[in-house]
Amino acid sequence: MQSPGELRWPEGKRGCMALAFDLDGPTGDAMLNGSIWSSPEYFTFGSYGPFRALGRLLDLLQDFQLPATFFVPAWVVEHWPEQCRAIVEQGHEVAFHGYRHESFFALSPDEQHAVMAKSAEIFQRYLGITARGFRTPSGDWQASTPEVLKAAGVLYSSSMRGDDRPYCIEVAGFPPLVEIPGKWEMDDYASLAYTRNPDFPKGGDRTASYALTLDNWQREFDGAMDEGLCLTTLFHPKISGQPGRILLLEKFFAHMTSRGDVWFARCDAVAAWYMQECQHAG
Ligand SMILES: [Zn+2]
Repeated sequence: MQSPGELRWPEGKRGCMALAFDLDGPTGDAMLNGSIWSSPEYFTFGSYGPFRALGRLLDLLQDFQLPATFFVPAWVVEHWPEQCRAIVEQGHEVAFHGYRHESFFALSPDEQHAVMAKSAEIFQRYLGITARGFRTPSGDWQASTPEVLKAAGVLYSSSMRGDDRPYCIEVAGFPPLVEIPGKWEMDDYASLAYTRNPDFPKGGDRTASYALTLDNWQREFDGAMDEGLCLTTLFHPKISGQPGRILLLEKFFAHMTSRGDVWFARCDAVAAWYMQECQHAG
């Protein structure tokens, strides 16, 4: 099938895979309103991600020599700095994901600016990096958010759903914000999250079959690569970095790398390449 987007990926590759993980740690209303401090079970469900699952996942990425982007709430960096430094040391990207995983949809522009400034300071202090990417926590954002992001020096976001290729969001007074859209089908929460309290997903099966989940991911990947598109993931170390699920990821990575026609890149590299393409086209 011809590429509908007419994208010419680097190195003559047919499609682009931008593996991405949301290293959330403890999140949700309980985190935001402080009640998490009287919910040790829920706290440890979140803390398992940076404290325990991340290392296992980094080892697997190293085995396959795959680059990845980690969207990390800055609160997680403050509390597990050693673990987060390992992400950077192993050549992966760390990008913005709120301070305590706030919903940007619920924040005023001033509050969004404050979260971005605080996060930037923490990333610089603990990791020595200037982050350039952003994924909105909890799904949506305000009309003001793209401008807040550009003012904070952000070059790209991976938050929206409207395409399966990168695109540009115009922001008055700034160069455009590159968007690398994701899809719920590539969110491990949708098939593998098991939490007793809160009940998620409400009324649904608690987890899907691991074999079917792998089959779904592989079909999404093959479809996107066959059409010459860009696929990213919304995987969470606390969900898919557990021992049984890491075997799923191992099979998925083996499937991905068995094709020779895929450009594997961090999201910041995808965004930089796309901006260059736009300038040539324009
Ligand atoms: Zn998240």
